[in-house]
Amino acid sequence: MSAGSGQAIESVLKEGRSFPPPADFAAQANVTPTHYDEMWRRAKDDPEGFWGEQAENLHWFKKWDTVLQGGFADARWFAGGKLNASYNCLDRHLDSWRKNKAAIVWEGEPGDTRVLRYQDLHREVCKFANVLKSLGVKTGDRVTLYMPMIPELAIAMLACARIGAPHSIIFGGFSADAIADRNNDAQSKLVVTADAGWRRGKQIELKGKVDESLQRSTSVQKVVVVRRTGADVDMKPDRDYWWHELMEGASTDCDAESLDAEHPLYILYTSGSTGKPKGVLHTTGGYLLGTTMTTRWVFDLKDNDTYWCTADIGWVTGHSYIVYGPLSNGATTLMYEGAPNWPDEGRFWQIVEKYGVNIFYTAPTAIRAFIKWGDAWPGKYDLTSLRLLGTVGEPINPEAWMWYHRTIGQERCPIVDTWWQTETGAIMISPLPGVTATKPGSCTKPLPGVVPDIVTESGESLPDNQGGLLVMRQPWPSMLRTLWGDHERFVETYLSKIEGCYFAGDGARRDEDGYYWVMGRVDDVLNVAGHRLSTMELESALVSHPGVAEAAVVGYPHDLKGEGICCFVTLKTGEGGEELKKELIDHVRTQIGAIATPDQIRFAASVPKTRSGKIMRRLLRDIAAGKETIGDTTTLEDYGVLAKLREESEG
Ligand code: ATP
Ligand code: MG
Repeated sequence: MSAGSGQAIESVLKEGRSFPPPADFAAQANVTPTHYDEMWRRAKDDPEGFWGEQAENLHWFKKWDTVLQGGFADARWFAGGKLNASYNCLDRHLDSWRKNKAAIVWEGEPGDTRVLRYQDLHREVCKFANVLKSLGVKTGDRVTLYMPMIPELAIAMLACARIGAPHSIIFGGFSADAIADRNNDAQSKLVVTADAGWRRGKQIELKGKVDESLQRSTSVQKVVVVRRTGADVDMKPDRDYWWHELMEGASTDCDAESLDAEHPLYILYTSGSTGKPKGVLHTTGGYLLGTTMTTRWVFDLKDNDTYWCTADIGWVTGHSYIVYGPLSNGATTLMYEGAPNWPDEGRFWQIVEKYGVNIFYTAPTAIRAFIKWGDAWPGKYDLTSLRLLGTVGEPINPEAWMWYHRTIGQERCPIVDTWWQTETGAIMISPLPGVTATKPGSCTKPLPGVVPDIVTESGESLPDNQGGLLVMRQPWPSMLRTLWGDHERFVETYLSKIEGCYFAGDGARRDEDGYYWVMGRVDDVLNVAGHRLSTMELESALVSHPGVAEAAVVGYPHDLKGEGICCFVTLKTGEGGEELKKELIDHVRTQIGAIATPDQIRFAASVPKTRSGKIMRRLLRDIAAGKETIGDTTTLEDYGVLAKLREESEG
């Protein structure tokens, strides 16, 4: 594999633009430059003192004895402390004016809406916590949630947290096999699901898939079903129950359990862009602290904001930045059930206008789709309520960043490009919108208390502007504690590659201003005639051509160069031909240089993506090499894309 050599990764991306925080934004920001400097120094001089002070922002039933015990492999944050995540997200707001504030503003795909005030949400959560108890769920038991993006999903999460039953959320697009594997791994006792969910006007079956999965998993004893679409479902007596029937008789009284800071809050299986899913385990105190503080710092959340993170709760972004982070801060969080192009490509902007969304957080894959759909869609709506934009999930191509800045942010809104992972629980490297000048394509600087570095395979720090491996040198509160049931794999995957560090699996460089530029997964790095190149930088060069909507670059075996460069290119419009191929090859050469000259350009209607929307280069490598696709494709969004690409490359 190309990642095997000890050489640094050459960075070829040239990006010189910089955008200081707008003065009026900086003047009202939660974190000012002075405040930031203080926090940063405090965190550097005394990390434990710093995190201990920050932890005062949570509600504790009992204060901790020590801030941190142990290291990466056996960290215990806030040992001796007792708290409850659901209490922090709900009960503590009820003594204030927020009792009547909207906690969740929900929009269904068909256009139905619901608003749950903090008081309402608290009541529903208490009731469902009592339902779970009545079905035999005890503290420590795992509960699987396989649900559409409806308020009941957030209610179920917080009910699990309330009684200390770790939830395991499975994205609603996964297959019966994927559910069974995850249920077996977690030994889940109960599943909460719905009859079906809405997606692009169609019903996506959920209960039927759960039924199928249960033929292969034996730990699950009960199933609770929300009626969402009215689809026909089979209800098995003494196993399956309707949510609304159980809730009818449930009491609204349910004290939040006083739980250890290290009590498991949830398991989340990573999306699996790189193979067999891993059950990432997060615990209560550290995770809640990380999500609470980063929401406040990075999104500059204010009490009168309407905040919208467009992720699905099935991914970590939804866990941390739709539910736990915003609710712990007493914010109004918007939740949308459906697709961005239903009933048309203007849906997101229609929602922004309708609710006066102030803060909008989405993914590069969505931004590339918006670009492809054209400026007319956002142009139809009033977006002046927006004051801050965010992105997460992949490196953002500088030209996509610029489009987001101009067309959605109207050159008024700072953009926070947030680097983090399922494993990190919370944002790690990101601009602070009132402090950091942004550079398109860079996630900028570490947050206070986060200590990254760029190193070689033998763990030596690399100088500025040399690409290498992104690591963390110090534990942080919201880090994963283990992989469920496989501590050895946890140590092996993250802690054994670079001694004394957490290895993120990503390549990156740091520039002369201390800014981080993430270059994608180390596994995706190309080795072309001895030059190690990041696919992301080549893709960004392609995307900077006005005709290109999206690009995925992979290596394939090449007699002379070791690896050749194969580019899959999706155009904004039209088919593409030999002439455009030449033009794109020239474009990349002039943007980057001769070493990066593409060997092959292949036009494709779309590229394979994971269900969370990330380009799946692993599969494209096989196609470029003319091999049959091997390995796990269960996390692939649309298998048809692969078949089509193979036809196109054979034909
Ligand atoms: P798996 O680990 O199962 O293969 P995954 O890594 O795609 O799946 P996530 O934890 O959701 O699952 O994604 C984290 C990864 O996404 C990071 O390691 C990085 O590669 C990429 N990423 C996230 N945010 C950014 C960002 N702002 N800039 C660059 N890359 C990012
Ligand atoms: Mg990952």
